[in-house]
Amino acid sequence: MKVIDHINSSKGETLFSFEILPPMKGQGISGLFNQVEPLMEFKPKFINVTYHREEYIYKKREHGLLEKVSTRKRPGTVGICAALMNKFHVDTVPHIICGGFTKEETENALIDLDFLGIDNVLALRGDAIKSEARFVPTPGGHEYASDLIEQIQTMNSGKYLNSEVENAFPTQFCIGVSGYPEKHFEAPNFETDLKYLKKKVELGAEYIVTQMFFDNKKFFNFVEKCREAEINVPIIPGLKPVSTMRQTTVLPSIFHIDLPVDLMNEIESAKDNQAVREIGVEWAIAQCKELKAAGVPCMHFYSMGKSDNIQKIAREIF
Ligand code: FAD
Repeated sequence: MKVIDHINSSKGETLFSFEILPPMKGQGISGLFNQVEPLMEFKPKFINVTYHREEYIYKKREHGLLEKVSTRKRPGTVGICAALMNKFHVDTVPHIICGGFTKEETENALIDLDFLGIDNVLALRGDAIKSEARFVPTPGGHEYASDLIEQIQTMNSGKYLNSEVENAFPTQFCIGVSGYPEKHFEAPNFETDLKYLKKKVELGAEYIVTQMFFDNKKFFNFVEKCREAEINVPIIPGLKPVSTMRQTTVLPSIFHIDLPVDLMNEIESAKDNQAVREIGVEWAIAQCKELKAAGVPCMHFYSMGKSDNIQKIAREIF
């Protein structure tokens, strides 16, 4: 079932969903199942699975030479989606990214998803390769998420690349996109970022999932600005409980978000990471209570490999 249909049939009830990362290459899927299992009691309507593009590593060769090798450290997004559907009978949302894909490869991935009965995608540009300072489009691929949406919508209307097949089978993907309450870090200003977000919606995105935020005021302001700009699709808040002291510097540097002063004051007075984890849970519970009271369509948790803290939050909220 499509995410938008879950939202529309929820009769105003706030839904629960979460995002997982594929395991590192070489690990089996059982660890992932163990991570997902405890969260199934809260009846997630869908589970997102991230996509990780290739990275460059350097392998030592003879005579001190180094060979630059491209490798994908967390492959398996499509397979994991199918495995989760099969094991837990839940809808899954694979993330589809522009980086690392030609249009032809994107088309083939979408055909695989369609054949597997997966009718949801989160369409993203994707991050830059780790060793590169900025995002560089793959030759023959897309530059922005909006270009990717156009391709998916073209398939939804029954048109494939380079195809002479008439009356080809139209796919039926429900497309979600990302939004940034604290602005995408590359955008020159909030309004320009909103302009491109609106473009994604005009091209066919049916809902928005936000980057994580720790201050609800930023989310409420984002929703208000979207509505003023006539972006009227459902906006799903993305949430992550802080769980270690280290994350107080890692999260802002990776995701370009702020941690509020009050949260930082509490964390700085914590005696160890266990105490930080508890503070993170309490902070997220307070955030979720306010968001639920405001009638958000769904709460989407970034699990980042751990589920015990999300379980504690969900017990208080759902
Ligand atoms: P876009 O919407 O393409 O925007 C990128 C930048 O370009 C923005 O600054 C925007 O203002 C600008 N822009 C957009 N369209 C245009 C245009 N037509 N012309 C000029 N400028 C434009 N990354 C991964 O690699 N894998 C994942 O699985 C993943 N999952 C994510 C899930 C969520 C919910 C979120 C919020 C992010 C996720 N990301 C993921 C990170 C995301 O890929 C990065 O934030 C990336 O830098 C931007 O992706 P986007 O789809 O938002 O880009």
